[in-house]
Amino acid sequence: MGEDYRGMWRDLGLDLAAHDVLLGVLGNAYRDIFLSQKNRPEGMAYFDFVMSEVHGLRIRELLDEKKSGRKIIGSYCVFVPEEIVLAANASLVGLCSGADFAMEEVERLLPRNTCPLIKSSFGFKLGRVCPYLESADMVVGENTCDGKKKAYETLGGLVGNLHVMDLPQVKSVQGRALLKAEYERFRAAAEKLTGVPVTAETLKKAIKTVNAKRAAIHCLSSLRRADPAPISGLDALLANQVFFYDNPARFTDSVNGICDELERRIAEKKGAFPGKTPRILLSGCPQAVPNWKLPFLVETSGAVIVGEESCVGERGTRNLTDDSGETVEEMMEAIVDRYFQVDCAIFTPNPDRLGHIREMAAACGADGVIHYGLQFCQPYLMESIPVETALEKEGIPTLRIETDYGMEDAGQLKTRIQAFIEQLR
Ligand code: SF4
Ligand code: SF4
Repeated sequence: MGEDYRGMWRDLGLDLAAHDVLLGVLGNAYRDIFLSQKNRPEGMAYFDFVMSEVHGLRIRELLDEKKSGRKIIGSYCVFVPEEIVLAANASLVGLCSGADFAMEEVERLLPRNTCPLIKSSFGFKLGRVCPYLESADMVVGENTCDGKKKAYETLGGLVGNLHVMDLPQVKSVQGRALLKAEYERFRAAAEKLTGVPVTAETLKKAIKTVNAKRAAIHCLSSLRRADPAPISGLDALLANQVFFYDNPARFTDSVNGICDELERRIAEKKGAFPGKTPRILLSGCPQAVPNWKLPFLVETSGAVIVGEESCVGERGTRNLTDDSGETVEEMMEAIVDRYFQVDCAIFTPNPDRLGHIREMAAACGADGVIHYGLQFCQPYLMESIPVETALEKEGIPTLRIETDYGMEDAGQLKTRIQAFIEQLR
């Protein structure tokens, strides 16, 4: 970390000793997993810098923005519309939830058989190790799966300003109406927090900013279709993870810069892995920072990941918001339309997701799909069985993985992944 940020962390109320442990683990994992890769695009130096300053410079920037009156809103889900947040003069930050922390304390509040993502969100709060969470003026919880819904009842007692957003579970007219009403309620809450009303002008600008960020990621995704793949799945995942907390305009410029470089690499047939390396589409639960376990195991077993059908990936960034509206009402409708297409497994039935996996597998030239389910995640684990059956029937080899954030099963997973890759060859 470039500067001594300890005073800033202390002021935020972090547990400095526990935070040192977290940064140590994170730094070592990053070095072993990311910096040890060969043939990385030079543009990844930006993301290496972002990660080295993840609890430093970015937090200082956000706190400086706060001094000038801007607010910070934290989110756990891609259903929280960044367009509304930006238009109300706030910044949206993703709250990672990708590592186990303070598990003993967590299991005093949540059952042991709760998904690792939910447990992690509690662990970061109870362990006082997340400067994003501690800087947030509002945290948004969303009624998605049952685990999250019930967990927010308890989290409300731990964080200062929790806004619980109800979400539909069915893609019906009534479901859309509920989403619309909840986005209006969220807009009012964001305006109340910042004291800044959303106007047609600010909302249009915000839609364009978020669309630009998504378009840059779309560009990156399409370049990954080349063989040899010009960037590793790990590096592409990192860009998708940084999407959630970097300054939006700077993020867009950096990803566009990497895309220019990838185009040159493709022309020169320069890959992160040799041509004809087996190609994998990863599909399933979100992979929040610093959850890099599965892509690391896959890409050190002789395959390359060429797409993520995931909220930290294409499920989260897939569609743009129509920016042609002229009034706040018209643009709010466009925002609802855009987010109502997200095919999260909390919806029932959820046929769009299978269609999307098929579409992605074909577009990325994937030789096989690995379905990634977090332990105790009922929505995705339940869906993984019909997804596997349907894909196998169509001749797309599929491997179902169920795992957590621990490394205890790494050896066993690696053996299964290697056997699957052998089968693809
Ligand atoms: S998987 Fe569903 S609940 Fe989880 S972040 Fe994505 S949309 Fe939200
Ligand atoms: S991974 Fe599954 S169980 Fe966990 S929060 Fe997301 S949808 Fe819920």
